[in-house]
Amino acid sequence: MCAMKITAVKTVVVNAEMRNWVFVKVETSEPGLYGWGEATLEWKTRAVVGAVEDLAPMIIGENPERIEFLFQKMYRQSFWRMGVIGMSAISGIEQALWDIRGKVLGQPVYKLLGGAVRDKVRMYTHLGGGDMRAVYESQRSNDPQVFVERALAVQEKGYKAVKVLITPPTESLNPIAAYDYAERTMAYLREAVGDEMDIMVDCHGRHSPANALEFCYVLAPYRPYFVEEPIPPENVDALAELRKRSPVPIATGERVVTRFGYRPIFEKQACHVIQPDLCHCGGLWEAKKIAAMAETYYMGVAPHNPLGPVANAVALHFALSTPNFLIQEDMLEDVPWRWDVVRSSLETRDGYWLICDEPGLGIDVDEDAARRHPFQQEVIHSTTVRAHDGAILDW
Ligand SMILES: [Mg+2]
Repeated sequence: MCAMKITAVKTVVVNAEMRNWVFVKVETSEPGLYGWGEATLEWKTRAVVGAVEDLAPMIIGENPERIEFLFQKMYRQSFWRMGVIGMSAISGIEQALWDIRGKVLGQPVYKLLGGAVRDKVRMYTHLGGGDMRAVYESQRSNDPQVFVERALAVQEKGYKAVKVLITPPTESLNPIAAYDYAERTMAYLREAVGDEMDIMVDCHGRHSPANALEFCYVLAPYRPYFVEEPIPPENVDALAELRKRSPVPIATGERVVTRFGYRPIFEKQACHVIQPDLCHCGGLWEAKKIAAMAETYYMGVAPHNPLGPVANAVALHFALSTPNFLIQEDMLEDVPWRWDVVRSSLETRDGYWLICDEPGLGIDVDEDAARRHPFQQEVIHSTTVRAHDGAILDW
């Protein structure tokens, strides 16, 4: 019998306002057999689509069941070690290969990754972290009410954990008002949702180590679940120093790709929780390797995922099969038609995803529905965040 072959690698781009979702389809020589992955990377859509096109000739004609072999081929034979754009393209392709493998074997992907180590998957969502208008309005008026209202709405939907962006973009030293705003907002939130709800604070890598440490102390009395990316992502030594002195758990990793990128974070024990994005870090198998490395340092895994619905399916299979998985980011409301562009058996209940036993990833893109939302240039938020004197800050 001839081995099955990859015949085409395609992308389907869906504009979901803040970001364009990039779905990756790998087709095979078996009639009707294909897989889906997701390579969404905010504001780099055309580059990721181009990277998928560049990688496709390396794997067309190959057997899609040789997932590790094909990862090695794309990663090592590219010669240039790839950053987040290239690794996002590889991730989307790799996920689609797992989808195909599961369909061939008639098994859900989590069973191919070691089987379920838990019965359901805990999720958290945002209080408008991406909605910068609400954040700025809240800061401008020094009024945390918008966050409190959103937190209560999320709690009502059954979530027991939320993430907020309440430390404002800053220079390397801050006015007292920045700390006061963060403390006041956190205090209101904790008061509103009670101790049963975990509150994560994402700093978007906005702060200098001195500022970040002060924010950690200001927030500590309200017991944040973790403080995420307190400083920019380039300097692991600076993060390791902060982690040693921080009174609260530190998380990081959404901008880190491959196990090689994570290696110094582990060796320097620079955080308590890692946050690989399965659509950027190299895919499902690479994320499993990264998680296993984290396990040896007793670190938890809270995967980053503000992306589209295929990314949700991928995340479910990772979470079900990974022992040191902690909690999964989920997009609650980006566009109202989010689930209309896919056919999916994913089910949620009381802030958890349930086990899905469909073969493969359990999700199929409706390409006709997807075509109704073609690529559009997104608003680039980063250019809007300025200091009082006009200098650019991390957003
Ligand atoms: Mg983040």
